[in-house]
Amino acid sequence: MKTQDSTSAAFSTLLNLIEPTLSAKYSPNLYEWMKRQSSKRALPLPNVYRGHDGVDWIGWMDGPYFIGARVMAVLCHGAKQGTAAYGMTLTQIPGFWETYVQTGRCAIDPEHQANFIADEGRWSSNGERRTCNWCGGFSQTLRKWTATEERSEWVSSERKEIPGE
Ligand SMILES: [Zn+2]
Repeated sequence: MKTQDSTSAAFSTLLNLIEPTLSAKYSPNLYEWMKRQSSKRALPLPNVYRGHDGVDWIGWMDGPYFIGARVMAVLCHGAKQGTAAYGMTLTQIPGFWETYVQTGRCAIDPEHQANFIADEGRWSSNGERRTCNWCGGFSQTLRKWTATEERSEWVSSERKEIPGE
C-alpha cells in the first residue's frame, strides 16, 4: 500500500515535469488542477481514461465508479473544475503521463484536431506545410479548395391582376 509520503512524492515529481513555464505544450489549467488534487488528501496519481464515445476523463476508478472530471473541462477551468462520481465503464489510456511529459497537450489530442487555450505557438509553418512544436513529429498540409454553393430563396412574383378589383 502506498503511504501518503510516496503519494505526494509521485505528485511532486510529476508536477515538476509538467510545469507550464517549462514549455507552452503543458496546460497551465491541468497543472493547477493536479496541484489541487495533490493537496487534497492521500490520492494516487490520477489516470486518464477514454469512454466509448471517445470522451477523455481524468481521475480514479473506485470499484464500479469513476471519480474525476472530463479532461476538456479540466483544461478549460483548471483548479476550479471539481470531481464527481460516475457509474461508467472507461478504458485507461496506458502511459498517459509519460506521453504527456514528452508531447504535452498532443497526448490529449493525438489527431491534432482540437484548439487549446494559448496554443498560438503550437505550429511552425513553412509554406503550405506546418509542423507541431509540442510533439515535434506531427505535420499537416494545407488543403485548399473552392466551394460552389447552391443557394435558394423565395422571391415575390409580380402581382397578378385580379379581375374586378
Ligand atoms: Zn503535436
